[in-house]
Amino acid sequence: MAIRKIRELGAFGDSVLKKPCKEVKEITPRIQDLINDMFDTLYEANGVGLAAPQVGILKRIVVIDVTGEDPILLINPKVLETSGEQTGYEGCLSVPGKTGRVTRPNYVKMLAYDENLESFEIEGTELLARAMLHEMDHLEGHIYVEKVEGSLQDVDDIEEEE
Ligand code: ZN
Repeated sequence: MAIRKIRELGAFGDSVLKKPCKEVKEITPRIQDLINDMFDTLYEANGVGLAAPQVGILKRIVVIDVTGEDPILLINPKVLETSGEQTGYEGCLSVPGKTGRVTRPNYVKMLAYDENLESFEIEGTELLARAMLHEMDHLEGHIYVEKVEGSLQDVDDIEEEE
């Protein structure tokens, strides 16, 4: 078990967060370690999703767990289908303490690969769809702040409102 350092979008920006990631072609011991560490890092940070570039690795690997009991690993994910719309506050482990409103599809179907590089399809709605699409953006070097409607806010201010 190892916790990796989460790269943050600071004043100077961490350029690793803005680059497109490469496909995973084989599961080496290094990749397996990376996957295990990404789950450890996600749970340690109490996040719902983490993409490899957030720990400084430009590979198409995402881990998600929206309930804390349902770990999802997506390798080389591709969006097959989306529908509907949802608007809500979103945050990112690479932009700590901030949140903003983002509109995304309410449903997504993706094709991805598991840790044996076997393909599977996965569907998500609501928070899971939001997390899957948020993490997908990371693999292309995009961060949710680019999509925020209005301005980025402090998490503390939002909690006071509600
Ligand atoms: Zn993020």
